[in-house]
Amino acid sequence: MKVFLPMPLIALYVLCAALAAPVVAQQPPPVPPGARDVVRKGAEDRCYRPRTVRDLDTRRMADVIGAGRDLCLQLRRVADGPVAWRFTIIRNRTHPDGPVWAVLHDDEDAAFEAGVHAVRRYGGAMIAVDTDEARFNGGLDPNHSFAATAGQAAPCRVRAAPAYTAEVLDMFPPGAPVLSLHSNHEGHRLTGGLGDISAAVSAGGRHGLPTGSPKGALSDPDNVVLIPGRVPYVENRAAQAAARYFDGLGINVIYERVGRSDCSLSHHVTLVRGGPYYNIEVQHGAAAVQGQIIDALMGWLGVVPVPGG
Ligand SMILES: [Zn+2]
Repeated sequence: MKVFLPMPLIALYVLCAALAAPVVAQQPPPVPPGARDVVRKGAEDRCYRPRTVRDLDTRRMADVIGAGRDLCLQLRRVADGPVAWRFTIIRNRTHPDGPVWAVLHDDEDAAFEAGVHAVRRYGGAMIAVDTDEARFNGGLDPNHSFAATAGQAAPCRVRAAPAYTAEVLDMFPPGAPVLSLHSNHEGHRLTGGLGDISAAVSAGGRHGLPTGSPKGALSDPDNVVLIPGRVPYVENRAAQAAARYFDGLGINVIYERVGRSDCSLSHHVTLVRGGPYYNIEVQHGAAAVQGQIIDALMGWLGVVPVPGG
């Protein structure tokens, strides 16, 4: 016999079921049997087949990484006391002397994707933090953990992470620009959005410089080149020249005035390592736009694509 329950009762039943359902914490992706995340001593430099490793991003991009013989996938693991850090490294073994990129947040898939394409197109390498697709490593933000000493760590109220800091910074040859890739949420919290990066908002030491010649999606305020410096923007001729260049291409810039360190990569480079730093931020998912901005930044740095890139 069929029982017809009035609609409100069905809705009530569904609601109760949803409320009763346990909240499933984000579990690391299942590790395929035999997948590697621990690197045997002396095997750091071997190249792994993308489908055999734990990192989901790498498996998602296995066809791209595995196409041709130019890219080599390496794994790294370091520890600062009880804190272990895992890294996925993609190197262009045909053109190793190209730019180097840091991808620090494992929940920013567009950045990983754009990084792989950049290493193929311009040579060089990329180092990505692998935290099983989560944003943080345990409670630590990978982009607020750059401190090689207790003194560097003090202003940030984090523990020094010398092994982590060295693993990332040693990827960048002396004098080479430190380049990073991130993606962010729509808009800015201060103007009703979700993120904290927008060329339309100047706040917290960040000076937004929206382009005067917008070009469609490329010029969305969430898509920016972030340039740090110790002095106010009006005193930073190099940053102004870069901003003029990007403005002409329809690309937004944010100038970040660095005072007291927050142990981010931009602050660590500006206050400790020295040398140029550029971060390309795009809205989550905008890997193609990130690729366009990468091309523009390479133009600014005088880097040309490798043959076939
Ligand atoms: Zn990020």
